[in-house]
Amino acid sequence: MLGTAGWILFPAISHSALEAFATLARLDDDRLSRIQTPPGWLTDRRCVPYCFRCFVLNDADVSAPRWKREWLDPTAEFCRVHHWLLETVPASVFRLSNHLDAAHRAISRYRKKCLSRGAGHLR
Ligand SMILES: [Zn+2]
Repeated sequence: MLGTAGWILFPAISHSALEAFATLARLDDDRLSRIQTPPGWLTDRRCVPYCFRCFVLNDADVSAPRWKREWLDPTAEFCRVHHWLLETVPASVFRLSNHLDAAHRAISRYRKKCLSRGAGHLR
């Protein structure tokens, strides 16, 4: 069911399941349906693009990292905020991490490894 990028690319759920989750989360189901991964973006990937600065600097909650929907688009290349080329992490980070906090630790380890190798680029 899940592809190479694990839960970060989560296939759409049925309308009845969506309604049940919306009730539990006290959100309207339209809002919940808009955060689902579009079917065209559910592709198997080797890498997933993201902007590290946007990832760790979450305006809505400074204590929590965030993953932007736009990074799930397989054609995403540049950060819309910082206008620089997005970095990438291996898709396996999400397959091997059970939640975003664990993925955050794995991404930080991956970045440190890349930077210590002196590659100078993180793509
Ligand atoms: Zn950014």
